[in-house]
Amino acid sequence: MASLNLSHIYKVYPNGKKAVNDFSMEIADKEFIVFVGPSGCGKSTTLRMIAGLEDITAGELRIGDVVVNDVEPKDRDIAMVFQNYALYPHMTVYENMAFGLRLRKLPKEEIDRKVREAAEILGITEYLDKKPKEMSGGQRQRVALGRAIVRSPKVMLLDEPLSNLDAKLRNAMRSEISKLHHKLQTTFIYVTHDQVEAMTMGTRIVVMRDGYVQQIDTPRNLYQYPGNKFVAGFIGTPQMNFFEGKLVQEGDVVHITFDNTSVQLDAPVSLFNKTSRAYLDGSKKVIIGLRAEHLSVNPDAHPYRAKCRVSHVEELGTDCQVYADFNTESEDIVGESPTTVIIKAPAGSTYDVDQIIEVSLDLNHLHIFDAETEESIAPRIPSEVVVDGVVKGGKLQLLGNTIVLPEAIAAEDGEYDVAIPTSAVSLGEDIAAKVVEEENVNGQRLLQLQVGDRVLFSIVGDDEQVGASVKINIDLKQIKLSREGEVMQQPLNLVNTLEARISKHKVVVEKEINGKVKKVPDLAFTLDVADAVFDCSRRIALRLVNGGGQNIFDKKLNLQFSPYQITVGEEGISATVEKVLDYGKEAFAVCHVGEQVVNVSVEKGFDAAEIKLSVDPEVMAIIEVDRNIRLA
Ligand code: ADP
Repeated sequence: MASLNLSHIYKVYPNGKKAVNDFSMEIADKEFIVFVGPSGCGKSTTLRMIAGLEDITAGELRIGDVVVNDVEPKDRDIAMVFQNYALYPHMTVYENMAFGLRLRKLPKEEIDRKVREAAEILGITEYLDKKPKEMSGGQRQRVALGRAIVRSPKVMLLDEPLSNLDAKLRNAMRSEISKLHHKLQTTFIYVTHDQVEAMTMGTRIVVMRDGYVQQIDTPRNLYQYPGNKFVAGFIGTPQMNFFEGKLVQEGDVVHITFDNTSVQLDAPVSLFNKTSRAYLDGSKKVIIGLRAEHLSVNPDAHPYRAKCRVSHVEELGTDCQVYADFNTESEDIVGESPTTVIIKAPAGSTYDVDQIIEVSLDLNHLHIFDAETEESIAPRIPSEVVVDGVVKGGKLQLLGNTIVLPEAIAAEDGEYDVAIPTSAVSLGEDIAAKVVEEENVNGQRLLQLQVGDRVLFSIVGDDEQVGASVKINIDLKQIKLSREGEVMQQPLNLVNTLEARISKHKVVVEKEINGKVKKVPDLAFTLDVADAVFDCSRRIALRLVNGGGQNIFDKKLNLQFSPYQITVGEEGISATVEKVLDYGKEAFAVCHVGEQVVNVSVEKGFDAAEIKLSVDPEVMAIIEVDRNIRLA
């Protein structure tokens, strides 16, 4: 039994292939985690790094409280089950299961007890004297599972354990493994390319693509709230229908049009609460997604209707799938076109080829993605809300409130689009708001706050008391003012970057050897930033050398840190202060270090032209620039 923590894990193979990028997640004790994605997306590599069969290039892996990057596989308390069972053919089932325990020199009686217990759990007691070749694929996979569970591992890793089995057996073994997880009360991590396996077994699923995590969520949330088009298309059968189209808001209605069809749906604007306004003026192409089960051949099932032309029907027994095209004029309806659609229909539904039918659409399950980035345009936690604002005489009129603008925001009088990030809204004392909804989004408390005629979003702490009416603050350093698409006032940049290098130095240290203090040669490390040098702990230096290789000392590094993680002092990096931004409650010095600009949190009233800045290598992200890998 153990929790796991993967923090900014990378894998770069010796040939330069970046197989896993910046993989971070917390796995709680007893979870059943599934890594899923198409072949080559980095699932097995991640699993093998957890097992210790593959070195971790960068990042930190903890099992329980222990960092295990450099712990041998056999000392990680992990058991792994592979697709090909990897049983010893000349040994009996009993011996196969006992083998690892004998190597560990466990007492004979204990080995016997563990093997018999595992055999009982897996229903293979009667095969204990048989050799693997006398058994079926499913039975052999049970033996492989048995060999893993006799070790009472803290974590069970399973790499496509069912892919050698036929479909029927795979189904049976799927539920066996779920039951086994329940019985053993151990953390399971399971790799598969099969989304059905992932959906039926995982308590949480990690969807991967090309070495990047796409989404980590429960099966239900992946299905209901896919964060991007890839996840939406990967999860669910048949695949979600996608259409290119546009959204245009007119008062309380949003007109949804599908390209190259006559489909036009007039949806209430309330369905678009979380959608950025930038998508609602028709200027951006979007991809509209709707699952087959959220369309109906009964035109009265849902309030929105559209016509389509049937191409063929697939009878599945329990129901059927109608293949059709919203482009009723289309000549070519064989194969994929951006207007084809699959509709779930009752079993036994029959239609003529080319028949025009009217279907209805359940827009409560609409998914919309940016056509370029393919990200959802209505994420569960919206990144920002854009509202109308008017600046007049140093004051900002916003949602029926008047906010005195701090000196740092010197916008001229006029009308603006004001972008307010969710991270800028917190409970406070300035602006009255009504709580219209509280949602739990993967453990985070998201409030929908009505202010004037708009809804803002805020994440609040677990222990904060929230009534029906609250007061909120808007962090003005995070807002952005634009006019006709042109940014007039940028938010304060909260992620600073400074170039750095690591150096090693020969030093002499005093060490106690056999009771005597002796001077011995040693190595010390520094981070060199502009004209300053900072001590770099052995822990950080090791991470940089392990991840970046021996030639890390020739490589360009970037330090990333917030304005609160850099301090003004007597010594350090020479910087020139360009200006001080006064945001009322806080002030920031905009400083030049050569060509680079950093923002530094300073006391109000701060006034200096030339300063020295200090950083702490322990608390910042350190990135190897060339390969774009976070090493620390
Ligand atoms: P998956 O398990 O999702 O199918 P893998 O983790 O096996 O994917 O592989 C991820 C990527 O890394 C693939 O592009 C694969 O070709 C590559 N890869 C795997 N092993 C090695 C290796 N030893 N050397 C170089 N590239 C590798």
